[in-house]
Amino acid sequence: MNLPYVEHIKKFTTKPVVCAGRMQPDAAAEAIARGGIDAMGVGRQLLCDPEFITKIREDRLADVRPCIACHGACLPFNGLNGKGTDIDPMHVEMGRCVLNPRTNNETKYSNAPAKTPKRIAVIGGGIGGMETAIQASLRGHRVDLYEKTDRLGGVFNAAAAMSFKEKDRELLEWYKRSLQKSGAAVHMNTEIGDIERLDADIVVIATGAHAKKLRIPGAERAITAADFLDGRAEAGDRVVIIGGGLTGCEIAYELALSGKHPSIVEMTEHLVGAKGICMANSSMLRELLRFHKVPAYLNSSCESITDGGVVIKTPEGEKAIPADTVILSVGYSPDERFSSLKEKKNRTKQEKEIYFIGDCDKVGSLKTVIKQAYELVQKISYGK
Ligand SMILES: Cc1cc2nc3c(=O)[nH]c(=O)nc-3n(C[C@H](O)[C@H](O)[C@H](O)COP(=O)(O)OP(=O)(O)OC[C@H]3O[C@@H](n4cnc5c(N)ncnc54)[C@H](O)[C@@H]3O)c2cc1C
Repeated sequence: MNLPYVEHIKKFTTKPVVCAGRMQPDAAAEAIARGGIDAMGVGRQLLCDPEFITKIREDRLADVRPCIACHGACLPFNGLNGKGTDIDPMHVEMGRCVLNPRTNNETKYSNAPAKTPKRIAVIGGGIGGMETAIQASLRGHRVDLYEKTDRLGGVFNAAAAMSFKEKDRELLEWYKRSLQKSGAAVHMNTEIGDIERLDADIVVIATGAHAKKLRIPGAERAITAADFLDGRAEAGDRVVIIGGGLTGCEIAYELALSGKHPSIVEMTEHLVGAKGICMANSSMLRELLRFHKVPAYLNSSCESITDGGVVIKTPEGEKAIPADTVILSVGYSPDERFSSLKEKKNRTKQEKEIYFIGDCDKVGSLKTVIKQAYELVQKISYGK
């Protein structure tokens, strides 16, 4: 993204000029060949995959774990403190990586073979299930992963669907490739109902979460964010998005980019106010929405959904907003299919160990899901 500016600077100096900022090796090679810059600088991508340079040299670019520029662990602060008012000093973090918890934690997360290889069944092929299967296989466990649909990636497919999420789509491809290379046996279109029948010492439940619904008149007229993003439902021209968190705001931006007319209704006083989202990302998104003149009704709640739109309660009183489509983006609740097992002290009748990870344990993000998978494999492999 900085290349044109850095090439311009090079015209005014005899010193070597290095360009950084989401540089891709092919673009860098071209720029160096034409004399536009002297070298490529790499920061975040090296935190994400420390073997980046080795993989370029060995012509293994498809093996590079792609940095998605989420900034969830590499940048010094994570923005608003959840109340949307200030920077939270408790969430200062630096030089780590959401996608690679081993970065700057190399002694905490060992790569050595497991002391006692186990038979592990992973239920769910979302990011949580895939990460667990990859990490466990790499340590010598025998892993079977069961996914009920014909698609790996779970809810992250919806997250990656927007036009500007090309790096998220690359990440999904990287997960599928890494899972295949890991040697784990993957059973697609296989819904697990009874875990007693699984041939395993350990069962890892990673079944994700379900979209929350609103209990308001006309709620059935709305579509969910995932329905829209996965292409199961289309949006008309005037779209009201209920929920101004990260997903709701990204959908509004995507709709604005495609020439549609979105509005956002948000209960709190801030858009993208959740804890843990880097300010570089959240403030940019707010700026983009302002640039595209997307109306945002803050401190407002949706009272009802009608044939012609929504009725909302704002601090100034009730207001009707006309809409062709209403998209609900009000969060997720953990899948409860296996939750009764949580009370059984992590054991089944056949003494299988059971663990819950990812959104089915507590709805989170890539950061929480991937970290949980690493910590679980660490515990299973080395007992700590
Ligand atoms: C629209 C959207 C945007 C998001 N954007 C971001 C973002 O930008 N950054 C970020 O960090 N996080 C984001 N998140 C959150 C992040 O994607 C999730 O926290 C994470 O992907 C959850 O992974 P998971 O493996 O726990 O669950 P899931 O992805 O839900 O995977 C669960 C899998 O289990 C399968 N399954 C369920 N029951 C069974 C069964 N009985 N047998 C077999 N298989 C079963 C399901 O089919 C599914 O594939 C977003 C979420 C959404 C919904």
